[in-house]
Amino acid sequence: MTKLNRRQFSTLLGSTVAAGALSMPNITGAASHGAKPKVVVIGGGAGGATAARYIAKDSKGAVEVILIEPTKRYYTCFFSNLYLGGFRDYDSIGHGYDALANNHGINVVHDWAASVDSSNKSVTLASGASISYDKLVLSPGIDMKYDSVPGYSVEAQTKMPHGWKSGTQVQIIKHRIASMREGGTFVMVPPPNPFRCPPGPYERTSMIAHYLTKHNPTAKIIVLDTKPKFSKQGLFQDGWERHYAGMIDWIAPDVHGGIKNVNAATMEIETDLDTFKADAACIIPAQKAGAIAALAGVTDGDWVPVMPASMATKADPNIHVLGDASIAKSMPKSGFSANSQAKVVANAIRGELTDSKVFDARFANTCWSLISENDGIKVGASYKAGAEKIDVVDKFISKNGEDEATRKATYEESEGWYAGITADMFS
Ligand SMILES: Cc1cc2nc3c(=O)[nH]c(=O)nc-3n(C[C@H](O)[C@H](O)[C@H](O)COP(=O)(O)OP(=O)(O)OC[C@H]3O[C@@H](n4cnc5c(N)ncnc54)[C@H](O)[C@@H]3O)c2cc1C
Repeated sequence: MTKLNRRQFSTLLGSTVAAGALSMPNITGAASHGAKPKVVVIGGGAGGATAARYIAKDSKGAVEVILIEPTKRYYTCFFSNLYLGGFRDYDSIGHGYDALANNHGINVVHDWAASVDSSNKSVTLASGASISYDKLVLSPGIDMKYDSVPGYSVEAQTKMPHGWKSGTQVQIIKHRIASMREGGTFVMVPPPNPFRCPPGPYERTSMIAHYLTKHNPTAKIIVLDTKPKFSKQGLFQDGWERHYAGMIDWIAPDVHGGIKNVNAATMEIETDLDTFKADAACIIPAQKAGAIAALAGVTDGDWVPVMPASMATKADPNIHVLGDASIAKSMPKSGFSANSQAKVVANAIRGELTDSKVFDARFANTCWSLISENDGIKVGASYKAGAEKIDVVDKFISKNGEDEATRKATYEESEGWYAGITADMFS
């Protein structure tokens, strides 16, 4: 059984949490062997917090739920772009776990899960404590494949942050944008597919442009994409033309020829087309499932294959994986998707452990993006579980040329969604 050591935990977190912030677990009761079946949930983000809450709530106390999450405050990646654009302050995207314990009796343990012994159905924590389970839910999100970008590394991420995980990285980006010289250049390198939040790099580009238009209007943004096309491309590019004409230069890989090297010391990004000198940069590498998924032995390469109707892994029916770590084709990796999948997982687990009715699996997703003030766009779909994959039932997308009232209403809808999903995770 492979284990993560303390240094690897810190690396996984990037600069999110210093190793010293890890706390000793409070697992009083977690190790008790009562008559209740026990569910251990690893990861208290969009997928895990929702799954823990729904399993506890819907089983009405018949199931013991233990949530393992190292951070005491979860800062959502969703709306972190709005923080960059000046539409949100950082505190407004942070959420704590007290209500999950107080309102639903969930035992929240602030620690890392270090390993999973699936044959003995137990999880070992970084503190050394061990917790047994009847069902294990993994929603560990993503880890970075640093070497997917030549020259990029854990060390380089402080000068060239990715800001693609919850935590302080996005604050570094904000600081670097604010410190750019007048007329300076911001370089963004979006990741290859598949990755967390397909429209995210382009909403981020929009929000940085919004900030720069107000504070540094002669600055430039260069997007060196690793993909020939991207989510909501026509909508974003139309918006960039309307709001930020001349500021954003999106360059496709067949034009720049690929990222040959990034150098955090000189702030240079080298391509066949040119070597771009950045005053500030955001490099987002390729991604894979959070490391605990591989340690649990349920990955197939980078991600976790699951059964669509229950999100149980193909490798082990007692381990369910949801959110970004899973292969939930045709759903995108988003917070909305993770929250929706969590309810399917909770339904399946509650049904199996309490011998109660299991409803057919239905899923939904909408990804809203803000281009500029009151200029919101969206793409979304509803889904059902097919035999081999999650199938689209119907889908929708905003259109170019929509009137201002529609775009404002779309933005307001996203505000409502944010309030709703965070209450669904943490209340
Ligand atoms: C810039 C940006 C903008 C975004 N905007 C949107 C948006 O507008 N709408 C939307 O729907 N989605 C958006 N997303 C995507 C969304 O944030 C993710 O898809 C979502 O958070 C995935 O949920 P998850 O549960 O899989 O992972 P996460 O929410 O990342 O949660 C994983 C949790 O697991 C914990 N963890 C990891 N390993 C371990 C371990 N070994 N032991 C214990 N705990 C562990 C981590 O600390 C973390 O809290 C955005 C993402 C980014 C980066």
